[in-house]
Amino acid sequence: MNYAVRLSSLRRATRLKCDAFVVSHNTNVGYLCGFSGSSGMLLITLDRAYFITDFRYRAQAALQVDASFEVVIAERGLWREAARLIKKARLERVGFEAEHTSVAALGLIEKQIRPSRAVATERVVETLRLRKDEMEIAIIRRAVAIIDDCFEHICGFIREGQSEIQVADELERQMRARGASGPGFTTIVASGERGALPHGIASDKKIARGDMITIDMGAIVDGYCSDCTRTICLGKPARRQQEIYEIVWQAQTAAAASLRPGLGCKAADAVARAVIEKAGFGAQFGHGLGHGVGMDIHEPPRLSKLGKGALVAGMMVTCEPGIYIEGWGGVRIEDMLLITEDGAEILTRARKPKGIIAL
Ligand code: ZN
Ligand code: ZN
Repeated sequence: MNYAVRLSSLRRATRLKCDAFVVSHNTNVGYLCGFSGSSGMLLITLDRAYFITDFRYRAQAALQVDASFEVVIAERGLWREAARLIKKARLERVGFEAEHTSVAALGLIEKQIRPSRAVATERVVETLRLRKDEMEIAIIRRAVAIIDDCFEHICGFIREGQSEIQVADELERQMRARGASGPGFTTIVASGERGALPHGIASDKKIARGDMITIDMGAIVDGYCSDCTRTICLGKPARRQQEIYEIVWQAQTAAAASLRPGLGCKAADAVARAVIEKAGFGAQFGHGLGHGVGMDIHEPPRLSKLGKGALVAGMMVTCEPGIYIEGWGGVRIEDMLLITEDGAEILTRARKPKGIIAL
C-alpha cells in the first residue's frame, strides 16, 4: 500500500483546520500506517508522523508500520503519550476524531492545549477511504472470488436435516481453506420462516425440504471484506416463493444496472424500492439498498432513503434489496459493485439466475 500518499492526503484534508491530527480509530490507524494490531494511535503533525503503541506490539509495529512513521512505545497509555508529544512540540490546534474519542481521552489532550484549540472532526479518514485504489480493489476482488467459490461449494453441501449452524460452519471453514483469514461478519443462514429476519444469524434450526435459505456471507482477505447474499430453495420452490424471489431479482438487477458516478445514494435506493413497491411489498423492504465495503464490512457511503451525496468512481458498494414476510420467510440478493468512470462493475460472480436456485 502507498501509505505516504495516504499520509499526504490526510495532511491536505486537515491542514486548514489544525496543525496536528490524532487518529485513534483502529481501522483508520491501519489504513494510514499498515498496523493491524488492536492498540495503536497516530499523531500527525505538518512535518512529522508518530505511531504510538504499547510494548506488546513493539515487534509487530517494526514489521508493519510504514517508514513514514516514528514508532513510539507508550509507557502509561496511548492517550497520555499523545498528550505528552503534543505538549513537547507545542502544538496549538489539535484535531481528533469526534466519533472515536472518549470524554476522558479528550480531557487528557485538553490539559496540554487550550481547550478551545481541540478541533472536533468527523469522518476525515473515512472520507479518504471512500475511493479504493488499485491495490485495494485487487484485494477485494480476491475476497469476493473466495465467496463466489464458497457459494458454489455450499450449494453441493446442503442436505435436508442439517442445521443452519452446520451450513454456516462449513462456509466459514471453506473461506479459510481458500485463503481468507476468516469471515468478515457472523455468517447468516436463515431458512424457512427465519428468512424473515434480515440479520438472522445461523441457529440450530434444521433445514427442511421446501425451505428457502438466505445465506449472507463475506470473507476477510488482507484486512478487506467481501459481502454477498443469495437465497436458494431446498427442493422445488412453491409458486409464492418463486414470485417473491423474482420481484427481488428484478429490483436487484435494475438497481445494479443503474449505479454510476453522479447517481445520488438516495436515488440508487429508489430504483430498487420502486420495483418492490410496485409489486406491493414496499413495507416488507425495511432496510436500505446497500452500503460501502472495504476494511469495514459496513462503511460509507450508505445507499438508502436517508443516503447523502452521490456515487463516485472508485467506491465499492453492495446492492442488496430484500423482501421479508413475517411468519413466512424472506428473500435477499446481494452483489458487490465497483463504481467505475462510466458505470459500475459487478464483482460478484456467484450464480444469480432469474429463477430461484433449487437444490
Ligand atoms: Zn451481506
Ligand atoms: Zn451487505
